[in-house]
Amino acid sequence: MPELPEVQTILDALAPLIWEQVIVDVSVLWPGVVDRPSVDEFVAAVRGRRVVQTSRRGKYMLFQLDDACWLIMHLRMTGNMRVVFREEPVQPHDRLVFHLENGRDWRFNDTRKFGRAYLVSDPDEVVGKLGPEPLDESFSAAYFIEKLAGRRAAIKTLLLDQRIVAGVGNIYADEALFRARVHPLRAAGSLQPREIAALVDAVKGVIAQALDEMGTTLRDYRRPDGSVGEFQNSLQVFRRTGRPCPRCGAMIERIVVGGRATHFCPVEQRLDA
Ligand SMILES: [Zn+2]
Repeated sequence: MPELPEVQTILDALAPLIWEQVIVDVSVLWPGVVDRPSVDEFVAAVRGRRVVQTSRRGKYMLFQLDDACWLIMHLRMTGNMRVVFREEPVQPHDRLVFHLENGRDWRFNDTRKFGRAYLVSDPDEVVGKLGPEPLDESFSAAYFIEKLAGRRAAIKTLLLDQRIVAGVGNIYADEALFRARVHPLRAAGSLQPREIAALVDAVKGVIAQALDEMGTTLRDYRRPDGSVGEFQNSLQVFRRTGRPCPRCGAMIERIVVGGRATHFCPVEQRLDA
């Protein structure tokens, strides 16, 4: 599932290919991809518009149109974007196509069909409840201490809560907890301030490194030119069950937390810490 670094990498490659291009028409190949408004209203409102600005919030991509409306997209599990020549055959899982004035197509492909497109006049309607960006100063130890206070939920579950911090998903949560030496099942409210500060630093470090390395490719994720990310080579615990911990040599274990596969070092990340 694309997390913040993958979404940013895709957006960085996509943006120069679509900036200032008039979207001359829209093909909705699977109607469920349009969350709001109706498919007919969506097509009518996007047709003839230009993308004047692109940005990201959490795992959402935001495209401001020249009538001040916002096209917002979420890739969910398997969504991806490409810009191709119109002659290129449509792929089986292409769900949404924006036909650009330069003869190219901006195509949204999504095998599992969880990805969504929104057209809104106020982006807060979609992204307003998101917590701070992990690399923003507002995601600080003081902020995180306040958010975790008194919470009995597992710390990993709260790291994945987009209302607390936006853009962290399963891969980077496991890697950050490992770096900070915090067990994923610890009750969030039981963490010491120094552990929370270490976890904030770890989240920032993991996300920054994954951005530098253009994301993590395990299965579906590709950059828009078809190439893979590089952070899969930097993973220390994620999907390394039974292999040695790179720090202490203990065998990495796998458990399930909140329905998500979770990987950790049983020696350094203690539940009874
Ligand atoms: Zn270890």
